[in-house]
Amino acid sequence: MALIVDVFPAREDNFGYLVHDEASGRTAAIDAPEAAAIRTALDHRGWTLTDIFITHHHIDHVEAIPELKAAFGTRVVGPAEEADKIEGLDVLVRDGDVVELGESPFAVMAAPGHTLGHIVFYHEAGGHLFSADALFSLGVGRMFEGTPGPMWEGVKRLRDLPDETLVYCGHEYTESNARFALSIDPDNAALKARAAEVKALRAAGRPTIPFNLGEDKKANPFLRADAPELAKFYGLDGAEPGEVFAAIRKGKDNF
Ligand SMILES: [Zn+2]
Repeated sequence: MALIVDVFPAREDNFGYLVHDEASGRTAAIDAPEAAAIRTALDHRGWTLTDIFITHHHIDHVEAIPELKAAFGTRVVGPAEEADKIEGLDVLVRDGDVVELGESPFAVMAAPGHTLGHIVFYHEAGGHLFSADALFSLGVGRMFEGTPGPMWEGVKRLRDLPDETLVYCGHEYTESNARFALSIDPDNAALKARAAEVKALRAAGRPTIPFNLGEDKKANPFLRADAPELAKFYGLDGAEPGEVFAAIRKGKDNF
């Protein structure tokens, strides 16, 4: 039996996700951005919340934990390295751990940078990656806590996942990410195609999520920090990819 994913908007520009293990009937929220939005999605599907999987400590990803835990008695799984910053975690996980939702296993991967302890959840059988603010379509999260070298290494590990992986990220930032990406990588045909697709989706009021990881590998400048043309753009020919990654991150911050 399969894992079903439900995608819905929450807060201003967050995405909410429910994952439902058909075999056991268990349902997890990926992060807890907003209780009302999560309750509406549960009601709509007729599911009961049993688990919450937390990716990082930012308020727009954890705020609904207390209310949902009180209402449903959910088990809350989250990053061991941010346990001191998140109220209500029951199970602490780190890179290499596996979390079971009924019969559906999720691999925990560390993706430091946006926050130091940021983790992502990867469901290999279904090809689903819940990346929160570690990896966006055509971008990555702002580097609030980390440093470029480890952030690049973490991003590269996500890039190593299969091309057919569907990525579910934390925010609808794709259109502005596309504008920045085109400004530094204007001749990239895959990027131009994705930017046009994104523009059409947003004009129709539709989300750009989930996105295909294989296409993003070709279009997302942060996944291309080891591409010679991006090093060249920043006058960093022959530099370490981590250094180019840092230049791209800084470029986006100032865009
Ligand atoms: Zn965040």
